[in-house]
Amino acid sequence: MATSRSKSDVANKIVSMFLHTLSKKVCAEFGLTVGDQAYTEHVSSVFKDKCIYCQDLLEKDKLAVEHLDGMNRMRAGLHIPGNVAVSCRKCNSEKRRDDQAKDLIHPGSGWMSFLSHDETRCKTTCKTCAFWAGKFPESQSRVEYLFMIRTRISGFRDRYKSVISWNMENKDVIRNQSEKLYRLCQEFATKEIKDLADQVNVSLGSVYQATSRLKRSG
Ligand SMILES: [Zn+2]
Ligand SMILES: [Zn+2]
Repeated sequence: MATSRSKSDVANKIVSMFLHTLSKKVCAEFGLTVGDQAYTEHVSSVFKDKCIYCQDLLEKDKLAVEHLDGMNRMRAGLHIPGNVAVSCRKCNSEKRRDDQAKDLIHPGSGWMSFLSHDETRCKTTCKTCAFWAGKFPESQSRVEYLFMIRTRISGFRDRYKSVISWNMENKDVIRNQSEKLYRLCQEFATKEIKDLADQVNVSLGSVYQATSRLKRSG
């Protein structure tokens, strides 16, 4: 169990490396960058240095670089302008439920789904609905708040329409490539781990030999 968990962690990490490499290629092609001053300034002017989701003030040790469309094999988001912003750690971790769902809980993409848990759409109250209800106890203002934030983020992304559209239009391709890489990593790890473990002599005899050697030397 622990081995299969760590194998998928490794495979997810490799998929993330693939998505970063692809992002660099896409940015170069579109002549864009996320690392420059202009982009940082635009992000902070739109979101006023607050969490893009819950609008809490961002404390230095409690913020996370946030990919609106998650950079994983489910959401196929990229490290490109319009997809990179800053959120609080709490929202970043709450959003993972939507980011990692094989089929999106609510339509759109990871960030839209995360911002649609207003208790009017989920069949039974889910953890994300409970999270937003904790932030905004009054239901009408919660619905309005989440709608306002979705609109603001859409507006922010509009400025980078060309590259964001490219990402959207190529989601299936990116997703397929990521799935393929994920599967290859898992297969490679399973086979190599077994083969290498098989090569280690773990017969009882060799253990006895080792202990008696230890006794002799001690
Ligand atoms: Zn937040
Ligand atoms: Zn919900």
